[in-house]
Amino acid sequence: MLEKHSLNQQDILATNIAHVRSTIAAAAQRAGRQPGEITLVAVSKTKPIELIQMAYELGLTTFGENRVQEASQKAGVFHPPDIHWHMIGHLQSNKAGKVIGTFDCVHSVDSLHLAQILNQHAARAGLRLPIFLQVNVSGEQSKEGMHPDETAEIARHIVQLPNLEVQGLMTIAPQVTDPEQVRPVFRALRQLRDTLRQKVVECSWPHLSMGMTDDYPVAIEEGATIVRVGRAIFGERASKGELHHETR
Ligand SMILES: *Cc1c(COP(=O)(O)O)cnc(C)c1O
Repeated sequence: MLEKHSLNQQDILATNIAHVRSTIAAAAQRAGRQPGEITLVAVSKTKPIELIQMAYELGLTTFGENRVQEASQKAGVFHPPDIHWHMIGHLQSNKAGKVIGTFDCVHSVDSLHLAQILNQHAARAGLRLPIFLQVNVSGEQSKEGMHPDETAEIARHIVQLPNLEVQGLMTIAPQVTDPEQVRPVFRALRQLRDTLRQKVVECSWPHLSMGMTDDYPVAIEEGATIVRVGRAIFGERASKGELHHETR
């Protein structure tokens, strides 16, 4: 089903964006931080390009996508000079080459192998690719990411790769009903970052990419510098069946 892009839809989007921005500012203030320290990545996966364009016109410039093909199609038709695409989804190493040229950074580096492949592609393209190490803090089986205990050892190797620029850590918290339940997950990622600052000194570990629609205020209170927010901006995503229909 194609969505109608009425003025009404623009109003809803503007209201959502204003709400997310003020929620970010309030959470930052509670934590004694500046709202400007926090980057909002608008997660536009499954959403049509018209909506992304509308969000861009309302002032958002950084968009998160989890599929290489979907993102490169979108970036192919809408490419103002100051737009940034962040890869936030699981990346198979055989698709790693395709992130170069579309994405400005990859949040989901979950193994040394993937880092090495990305490094090769970045070298070939003559650039230095910003990346985050994805950590599976909660230990959920279904989640991608490095085990917290192995992160320092993997990080020691990754920071040596000349064509990658490690920005910090990323995690996805489990789905819960009360966001307070995932506060320990965010706190653990921040503590791991503090440990890495001692153990892997080649990198300053500036960023923590954590917090989504259901939990980004808590993530900010715990030190997030980047939040990845989809539904609170663009509305609910279609179920998988519809989604297939929508994206093809
Ligand atoms: C989909 C997704 C998001 C955004 O989730 P919302 O609940 O829509 O805010 C953030 N991060 C990752 C890795 C995602 O896959």
